[in-house]
This record gives sequence, C-alpha cells and structure tokens, in this order.
Amino acid sequence: MDIGFIGLGIMGKPMAKNLIKAGYSLVVYDIVSKSVEELVADGAVAATSNAEVASRCKIIITMLPNSPHVESAVAGPKGILEGLQKDSIIVDMSSIDPTVSIALSKKVEAAGSALLDAPVSGGEPKAIDGTLAIMVGGRQEAFDAVKDLLAKMGSSVMRVGDIGSGNIAKLSNQIMVAANIAGMSEALTLAAKAGVNAEVVFQAVRKGLAGSTVLEAKAPMVLEGDYKPGFRIELHIKDLANVLAAAKTYEAPVPLSEIIIEMMKTLQAQGHGADDHGGLIQYYEQQAGTVVRK
Ligand code: NAD
Repeated sequence: MDIGFIGLGIMGKPMAKNLIKAGYSLVVYDIVSKSVEELVADGAVAATSNAEVASRCKIIITMLPNSPHVESAVAGPKGILEGLQKDSIIVDMSSIDPTVSIALSKKVEAAGSALLDAPVSGGEPKAIDGTLAIMVGGRQEAFDAVKDLLAKMGSSVMRVGDIGSGNIAKLSNQIMVAANIAGMSEALTLAAKAGVNAEVVFQAVRKGLAGSTVLEAKAPMVLEGDYKPGFRIELHIKDLANVLAAAKTYEAPVPLSEIIIEMMKTLQAQGHGADDHGGLIQYYEQQAGTVVRK
C-alpha cells in the first residue's frame, strides 16, 4: 500500500527516507518543490497537492510546523479532505495545539476516516536514526493499523489515549525540558556569580538527584558558549504558546511556562531565536552581568 508523506522539512525528510529504506512506497508533497525532488531522487513519487496525496494513499502522514499549517493542509483549499478516501488514516506527527487535533478529527471522522495525533521527541539526529519517541492519541483500531509503520521511524511508539492526548504528552515533555534548562541556567549563573567554577558544579551534581538527560545534553554546550541548534528557541516558544493555549482550555496552572516563554521571547527579540534552547542561559547572563563558562 502507498503511504502519503506531507511536510519534508528538517524532521519530515529523514523520517520519509527511513520509510523508503524500510521498503514502503511513498507519495510525497511539500510546498517547497526542491524538498519533493530530493525524495523523488530517493524513490518516492511526487504529488502536486495535499488533496492528490490523499486521493492516492489511504495512510497519510503529515509533519508540519504548527497548528495553522496542519489546518490548512488538512481542511484548506486543495487540502487532504478534498481528496480523502473513506477508511483512510491521517497520522499528524507535527507538534500542535491538541484542541486543533480534536477539532480536525471531527471533520476527518465526518468524512469516514480517522485522525491520529502522533508528535515526536528526539530532534533531527533521532529522526535520521529512526529512534524518535512517538506519542499517539486517537482510536485504538487506527493506532493498531499504523503501529508497525511508526516503528520504522521511532524506537518508542506509545498510544497515550484519545485524540489530542499525543500532543498533550508532547507539551508535557516540552514543559519539563524548558523548566530543566531554566533550572540549569539559574543554578550555573548563581555559581558563576559566587565565584565557583560552573563546570565543577556540573561535575559535582550530575550523578545526584539533579542529574538529567537535559543536563547531560545541554550543560557541556552551554559551558562552551555553544548555542548551535539542536532545537531552536523559536520552536520552543511555539510549543510553550501551545502549552498556554491548552492550559487556558483545560484550566491548568502553568506559571513556569509563562515565565520561561517570556525569557525566550526576550532572547528572540534580541535576534537569538535560532539559537539552541540551551541558549536560554544568555537571559540569565544578561541579568547577572556575567558569562558562564568552564
Ligand atoms: P520544518 O519547518 O523544517 O518543516 C516543515 C515542512 O512543512 C517544510 O518543508 C514546509 O515547506 C512544509 N509545509 C508547510 N506548510 C505546508 C503545507 N500547507 N503543505 C505542505 N507542506 C507544508 O519543521 P521541522 O523542524 O521539520 O518540524 C516539524 C514539526 O516537528 C514541528 O511541529 C516541530 O515542532 C516538530 N519537532 C521538531 C523537532 C526539531 O528538532 N526540529 C523536534 C521534535 C519535534
């Protein structure tokens, strides 16, 4: 069966390539034709619109930047719904507002098909390795039908619950990562201000309770002043904006997310939006009038 793949950016391109490597036939589309050509060179078939992908494939994966892009690709002009065959499954792997997943799911179900929200964690290196963590929301039968396909792109594929719950899991992930980075930045800046070597503090705490995957990934970069992305501050702002929107809908308190998004927006306004999110420490450095290095 042909698999449709829409959105061939930083993440979508390697994910689609892994499906081709696993032996699937892909029909691909992106508004950037150069990206489509690259996948065609790897053996995919090009489509000229999202509607055409849907008219040729009953499983359609989307990997797009944010909610408006997914709304447009699914329900906009020449969108998936215009070509959708009955009993199709759309797997939206973008990180978006969960309430948008729920609203789109109603439209897709009205057309006799199913939508899964299946955002990922892991970034470009894990997209290339096929070792993403994939968190899925939606109907069990639809999940069962695409589980093996998703396993070609990730080392962990887990159904979290009903539609929208994949993105709730992803937003939870993004809150914890942001808070972890902010905590690390605050701590290392305090050490530097106190005249204690920040690198030695990192080495002293990393095996204790404060040790974490985030600390291991980000502290060595930050201590070198290396903010090459990785995951860009502007993408984390997008995710935290979706956290604030979801928190409003579900009446959940998110004071940490509110503070951290403001710090990130300050850095973005200064031209640091494309820095790695570990670059959040620059906010603290500015406030403290110091530079945190080895
Ligand atoms: P990207 O901007 O590199 O790629 C998105 C692609 O979608 C682009 O090629 C763009 O041309 C295409 N596109 C936009 N609108 C379209 C439309 N209407 N129809 C068809 N194609 C369209 O983004 P990315 O970094 O690949 O991220 C995709 C998603 O994955 C985002 O939601 C992001 O938050 C999430 N994510 C990214 C990372 C990361 O490290 N980059 C990690 C985990 C999750």
